[in-house]
Amino acid sequence: MKNNQICSTCNTDKFLKIKNITTNFNIKGEEIQFTYEALVCSQCDEYISSPDQNDEILKRVYDRYKEIHGLLLTDEIISIRKKYNLSLRDFSKILGLSYVTYHRYENGAIPDPALNNLLLLIKENPQNLDNLFERAKLKFEPKKVQKIQSAINEI
Ligand SMILES: [Zn+2]
Repeated sequence: MKNNQICSTCNTDKFLKIKNITTNFNIKGEEIQFTYEALVCSQCDEYISSPDQNDEILKRVYDRYKEIHGLLLTDEIISIRKKYNLSLRDFSKILGLSYVTYHRYENGAIPDPALNNLLLLIKENPQNLDNLFERAKLKFEPKKVQKIQSAINEI
C-alpha cells in the first residue's frame, strides 16, 4: 500500500501512520471485538480503508470467531483437502457441495457446525473420506475415479 494517499476526510496528501484500532464486529449476531493495525491519516487520524485490507481484516475476524466456537480455521480446511491431494472441484463434489459454496470456505467463510463435523471426520480418518467418495463416485468420470481413489489410498 502506498503511504502518500490523499485522505478523503481532510483532503490533504499526508503521510499515513499505523495505528492499532479496536472495533466490534457483528458476526452471526455475535459481537466480536478485534484489534488490528490500520493506516490512519497523520493529519486528522481518520482510518484509510482499502477493499483488500478490509477483506483481510474480515477474514481474521472470522478466524477469531471460529477459534471461539471451536470451528476449523480457513487454513485448516485448506490443509485437509491438500492432504488428500484433491482439487477444489473434486473435493466439493465429494462433500456434496457446489464448487462455489465450498470455495467460500477456503476463502474464509464460517462453516456451519454440520459441515465442520464432516470435515473433522475426514481430517481424522481417511476411511471417512473413502466412504463419502464411495457415495459420490457416480459424479466422476471413470478415469477420475481411479485417480482420486489412489490418492485417498495413499494416505
Ligand atoms: Zn486526514
